[in-house]
Amino acid sequence: MKIKLIIPPTVCGIAAFKLPYGAAVLAAHLRKGGHIVDFVDLSVFNNGLSDRMYAKKKGFVDIGALKNNSQIEYCLNIKKKGGYLYHAFKKWVLRQEWSGYDLVGFSIQSYSSFLFASLMSRIIKESTSVPIIMGGPYLILFGDIFFKQSIACDYMLIADALTPIDGLLESMQGRRSIESVPNLMYRKNGRVFSNTRKRYPIDRIPNADYSGLDPGIYNAPRHPSIGPHFGFRIPYETSRGCAFNCSFCGFCKNHPLEIKSIVKVVDDIKLLTETYGSRWINFVNSEINISNDYMHDLCDAIIGSKIDINWHSYATPYRLDRDLIDKMKESGCHSLYFGAETASNKLLRNMNKPFLAEEMESVIRWTHNAGIETRLFFIAGYPHESENDIKATLEFIKRNKFYITSYEIAHFRVEYGTDIFLNPAKYGIRILRPNFMNPVKWCYEFDEINGLKWKDKVKEIDRSYRRLSQVLEPKSRISLLVDGLKSKISSLCLNR
Ligand code: SF4
Repeated sequence: MKIKLIIPPTVCGIAAFKLPYGAAVLAAHLRKGGHIVDFVDLSVFNNGLSDRMYAKKKGFVDIGALKNNSQIEYCLNIKKKGGYLYHAFKKWVLRQEWSGYDLVGFSIQSYSSFLFASLMSRIIKESTSVPIIMGGPYLILFGDIFFKQSIACDYMLIADALTPIDGLLESMQGRRSIESVPNLMYRKNGRVFSNTRKRYPIDRIPNADYSGLDPGIYNAPRHPSIGPHFGFRIPYETSRGCAFNCSFCGFCKNHPLEIKSIVKVVDDIKLLTETYGSRWINFVNSEINISNDYMHDLCDAIIGSKIDINWHSYATPYRLDRDLIDKMKESGCHSLYFGAETASNKLLRNMNKPFLAEEMESVIRWTHNAGIETRLFFIAGYPHESENDIKATLEFIKRNKFYITSYEIAHFRVEYGTDIFLNPAKYGIRILRPNFMNPVKWCYEFDEINGLKWKDKVKEIDRSYRRLSQVLEPKSRISLLVDGLKSKISSLCLNR
């Protein structure tokens, strides 16, 4: 069968520098099964000027002017009045070939990409009857609340795609009942059905196949805020799910922890670097150091295999020691991303983080001293965050500025499916209503029980964000300049 896989645009810059890992794994699986897969990645045409120029040159839709979901929703809703976005996407859809395709799939990364996919699906359905399926990491988190909204979408994947895809294709050919295909939502006789979920064995997941995409597009210095590594980075997943249960994170809820065997990881990475000619590996799982034993073994295997890579990953400070950090460096670790969130131990405990501020402080110093760059993530305005909590974080940042290469601060949001959403009283909040303004996540407004009401809390979240930004900002500007220079040199040296 012939399948077109589309990665829709998104107003969130985060997706735009990444090769589409999940869609490429699905493509590999389908191609192995003898199917033809064509890729279209529209997420590379994003906010940055270079993307907008590239989009114009290639005749793609320029979405650079759209800044948030309300603008997209507005554009979607004024279809009858001839909205800009509808006509722009219609032109794009009419230029594409749709005949001969048996299925069109959208890989969804964020709420805005879901909105764009919904719009494009509606337009595609105006001129063709090709079935449309949506899947991807965002729908694994939020799909069960979105399927009803996206009326042009025939099927939605609410868990991993490899388990159901063959069954779905068989059912479309009349060789299997749709009811027996796991991980799928579908419509029948005007009703929505949701099938049971089933996992695909992690060690059988094929290596991503990016044939049909131009890796050069992902090579540009498009998003300086992400960090200094502007080379073409190959995403790879060593595990799924997470060992921890942070209150604000849905990652741990959608999949139990599964880890790939070390042999598979090393073989896959070797093949990817040889196939695509880049030495940069971006581990896209939750925390690379799921356990110290696993991490020691993985580093030993990478060092022993002599694959010469530079890698980045999220990591947890939990039980990370100096010996292991040194070994990570030896295996090619270039930077580690830590979800620090706050330096208030009271809030860290409430968030269910597995470490305290003192452990985090030691780890980022050891990491820096080992020659590994550190990127820290902070959360501003967690429920019941007090002046003392903010001060603890400000002091922590001042003390450790020298060891923090770059950072990111997020406004606190209650996301659908997280522990704080499912058990709000446990965390001292009361959920009110959805708030669609965040371009990435499906969030909810809330009141603090015996604390601030939402209209004051949202101001407090902003205030906390500004205070953290102010203490981090001067370092970040300098480091971005230095990083910009370093990146130019390293991309010249490392991607030669
Ligand atoms: S924030 Fe990180 S450590 Fe915590 S549950 Fe999510 S992925 Fe796991």
